[in-house]
Amino acid sequence: MATHFEIDEFLLELLRSRSPTGSEREAADVVEKHVLPYADSVRRDVLGNRIASLGDGKKTLMLAGHMDEIGFIVSYIDDNGFIFFETLGGHDNVMLSGRRVTIMTRNGYVYGVTGKKAVHLMDAKERKEVPETHGVWIDIGAASRAEAESMVEIGDAVVYDTMVHKLSNTCCAARAFDDRAGCYCVFEVLRKLSKLKERPEYRVVSVATTQEEIGTRGAWTSAFSVNPDVAIAVDVDHATDFPGCDKHRFGSIKLGGGPVISRGPNINPKVFERLVECAKMEGISYQVGAESRPTGTDARIIQTTRGGVATGLVGIPLRYMHTPAEVADLNDIDNCVRLLQSFALSLKNTDDFTF
Ligand SMILES: [Zn+2]
Repeated sequence: MATHFEIDEFLLELLRSRSPTGSEREAADVVEKHVLPYADSVRRDVLGNRIASLGDGKKTLMLAGHMDEIGFIVSYIDDNGFIFFETLGGHDNVMLSGRRVTIMTRNGYVYGVTGKKAVHLMDAKERKEVPETHGVWIDIGAASRAEAESMVEIGDAVVYDTMVHKLSNTCCAARAFDDRAGCYCVFEVLRKLSKLKERPEYRVVSVATTQEEIGTRGAWTSAFSVNPDVAIAVDVDHATDFPGCDKHRFGSIKLGGGPVISRGPNINPKVFERLVECAKMEGISYQVGAESRPTGTDARIIQTTRGGVATGLVGIPLRYMHTPAEVADLNDIDNCVRLLQSFALSLKNTDDFTF
């Protein structure tokens, strides 16, 4: 338990890495650095996924945590050197302006800020409006198009430039807990399992998936190639314990309340029950979330891969998802790792997840 409030070095490096959708190399390098010494193999594929395997069981458990994050892509540079962009993933446009950003160029980072008209210069109507994506630009201090183009190219990826901050208790603020937290969990459990005398009966394959934020595209290909019998997607889930949240609509999920075990048509009911049994057996506090449709997670595509995969979804409670200041509780992340470990060890070759 992270009561003394230290952030594990692996998690910290993942949170600091810049990994916008389609440009996940930094997070992938962190995964390789921390997982290679523990896994039997780590391979890459042509979508940029990192796929680590442990054991040689007849059956396979796939654990998926996506390593991409929302960001931007440079789409146009104007005559004065101001840079315009498209969004990568789902943004709240209220957040767009007044931010420091890092542009990831072939020659390294270029720093900028997102600008728009100052409040003093707006009329009453403009003050109430949410900016259009194309009404905000990136200012890198360049004096001309040519100067900007000497540093930045069309298609370069951009992320918000924010730090990891410890808050009170075991809470922490970072730019991309979605889903570096889940990505950490699926590899931390593999590292822990590798040190045990008693290995799981199933082969465990942990995948850092790419391009989740634009349609679970890394999970799509990796689930096909891994061909698992059982899979757990690990992602963040909305904590609903913030002021004014309508619990009648969004249910009750607390930060610090433990991992969220999802239930609904996207989830194999026997996998759900097994996860709950494991949580109870280990004394891990957990929460249950209802998902009425295919979820916006890797579980969505993994479940319907090939002839179908018995799929579960475990969520780490998160406040302020898809903002530059997401807040998670480190104890929830630790408890998620414990739950995944217990689940992996519970699997027997005789298990039947058909229903
Ligand atoms: Zn997301």
